Amino acid sequence: MSFSRLFLRSLGLLTLATAFAVPAAAQDYPTRQITMIVPFAAGGPTDVISRIVASHMSQTLGQAIVIENVVGAGGTTGTTRAAKATNDGYTLITGHMGTHAAAVPLYPKLAYHPETDFEPVALLAGTPILILARKDFPASNLKEFVAYLKANTDKLNMAHAGVGSVSYSSCELLNSVLDIKPTGVPFNGTGPAMNALVGQQVDYMCDQIVNAVPQIKGGTIRAYAVATPERNPSLPDLPTTIEGGLPAYQASAWNAIFAPKGTPAPILAKLNAAAAKALDDENVRKRLLDLGSDIPKPEGRTQAALGALVKSEVAKWSAVLKPATN
Ligand code: ASP
Repeated sequence: MSFSRLFLRSLGLLTLATAFAVPAAAQDYPTRQITMIVPFAAGGPTDVISRIVASHMSQTLGQAIVIENVVGAGGTTGTTRAAKATNDGYTLITGHMGTHAAAVPLYPKLAYHPETDFEPVALLAGTPILILARKDFPASNLKEFVAYLKANTDKLNMAHAGVGSVSYSSCELLNSVLDIKPTGVPFNGTGPAMNALVGQQVDYMCDQIVNAVPQIKGGTIRAYAVATPERNPSLPDLPTTIEGGLPAYQASAWNAIFAPKGTPAPILAKLNAAAAKALDDENVRKRLLDLGSDIPKPEGRTQAALGALVKSEVAKWSAVLKPATN
């Protein structure tokens, strides 16, 4: 064999070997603790869902996953931090329908784009939206609540987790259906917003079901409806917005893990598999279901499915939300 043919053949083998080689760093991953940014305060839905799933994932991965609550600007502060983090698999973020979709039309100068600055890792939970109010709110059902809201908008405070958050966007949707403009009161997450609702310092809120279920069951707040076509098994007595006479208001959200763009594919695959394993665990499932969330089916748990969800959600919210003015 001529030298040039031998050279070409070895080059071919080398290329083949390189193509299949997994960098040592990715193969051994993880060798130290992982930081999971939660862009909202402790005790809210994003925080609660992250902690439930991350504690199981850390058993699978053999390394601690430390939750870091980086709050502010409706979750966009923490999400910007995550977008700029080193893309080595040691910094992740739990984002949601707000940070990775609704924030796009609300912030024309957003420092990241959910589709191009992140790698989708895994969808963790679907979260129906509830219409909630302080426990002494003067309405005994959704119809009375709507009538009261329309008649007293000027006097009412609506709690939310900042412009761009799920609670902000989903209540903006409600306000536009009702054609009202209440005063918004921002918090660093719906954990603290819920405390204010329980303390009767604010009047109403629309939020992901998760941290509302224990409060509704405990009678510390009122719930008027779930904004999905079906009732939620965790709150079987709570009517849907369709049953309550407000079918135009439909809203549900989701939480998912993302990694900075360019995180190596083998690392993303390990993380996705660990998340899927967590979602199959009996204890994890029970905790998420008891809090009213939906667990994604296997076909919805792939990275590609999450990428497609983000794309469609950005398009959907961009069509209904305009840049924020408050
Ligand atoms: N549910 C919140 C939101 O409105 C955030 C949180 O505290 O999880 O976006």
